[in-house]
Amino acid sequence: MIRAHGYAAQNAESPLAPFTFERRDPGDKDVVIQILYCGVCHSDIHQVRGEWGNSTYPMVPGHEIVGRVTSLGKGVTKFREGDLVGVGCFVDSCRACGSCKEGTEQFCEGGMVLTYNGVEKDGKTPTFGGYSSVIVTDESYVLRIPEGIDPAAAAPLLCAGITTYSPLRHWKVSAGQRVGVVGLGGLGHMGVKFAASLGAEVTVISTSARKEADARRLGASQFLVSTDPSAMAKAMGSFDFILDTVSASHDVQALLGLLRRDGTLVLVGAPDKPLAIGAMGLLFGRKTLAGSLIGGIAETQEMLDYCGEKGIASDVEVIPMQQVNEAYDRTVKGDVRYRFVIDMKSLSV
Ligand code: NAP
Ligand code: ZN
Ligand code: ZN
Repeated sequence: MIRAHGYAAQNAESPLAPFTFERRDPGDKDVVIQILYCGVCHSDIHQVRGEWGNSTYPMVPGHEIVGRVTSLGKGVTKFREGDLVGVGCFVDSCRACGSCKEGTEQFCEGGMVLTYNGVEKDGKTPTFGGYSSVIVTDESYVLRIPEGIDPAAAAPLLCAGITTYSPLRHWKVSAGQRVGVVGLGGLGHMGVKFAASLGAEVTVISTSARKEADARRLGASQFLVSTDPSAMAKAMGSFDFILDTVSASHDVQALLGLLRRDGTLVLVGAPDKPLAIGAMGLLFGRKTLAGSLIGGIAETQEMLDYCGEKGIASDVEVIPMQQVNEAYDRTVKGDVRYRFVIDMKSLSV
């Protein structure tokens, strides 16, 4: 077994604290990865704090993992020692169902194996995530990080990146379309970068007026404060596509009103409470309300390669592990520009 050091939550109320555990010895197809950086996703906070009702403890969170390959099983063909690689939200799936065969492993009919807060395919071994020194992952679920991207700024691409890239591609967002991105946090700021890179005319729809200058720097041409009723009224019926990344309860009905006829609102944010939708908001204007979940392995690699070509990465605040609990509180307050990323070197000091 391989000894791993990390931080874990012991229950929904306790802060994350040092935790030592074991990783499996690499099997034939496994890659051993020394973790360099791991992003702090709001999904980590929801799960650590038991907000989705699916939490098991101890929990080592983290699914925005970037590291270096330090050793390989003898059947590994995709990677070599020293490669810079990533691991995202899942580390295995059944590989046989329609979703897996079509490259949408995130919808695996047998259930994907989550990177943490999940169980391995043996049905009993808990999975532990990337707030740790080392991870052992089957090569089929490991991504290649393109040369030239700062590894710390690449980490959030493994979740925030693919979660925003995938719906923009699926719904074929293209040049000239009017796109709204709701919530300028980890996901939102990547949504702005991707939508702008596709040539869309991007508006950030935010509760935080102080984020306007950043929104414009990230690629938005307009900024709409969602708590300003007159600005919202003026913007009614003006968007082709809205990507909603909000992590808490909010007024989705008002956002539907911002869509044009035949417009689409896609939820990627995952608030713990149900959202209120009136039928009329969809009927009038034949509007579509949809959802999207991360992305498959092939699409995640496509997104990483796209980022490599276009020079896209995340805006990050790099922190030592010892500051992770404070980073959680700041993220919940919307006080992050725009993703915290843990530097794993801090585990050994
Ligand atoms: P984040 O960095 O905390 O950003 C969320 C943003 O939502 C905040 O910065 C804030 O933006 C806005 N917001 C927060 N509370 C709000 C409220 N009460 N009303 C209106 N707006 C509010 O979080 P994240 O990491 O981007 O994650 C966002 C959500 O996506 C989480 O629920 C997470 O679990 C989920 N998620 C889903 C997937 C998926 O596959 N679908 C993947 C990853 C994460 P402003 O200050 O601009 O208003
Ligand atoms: Zn995430
Ligand atoms: Zn499957």
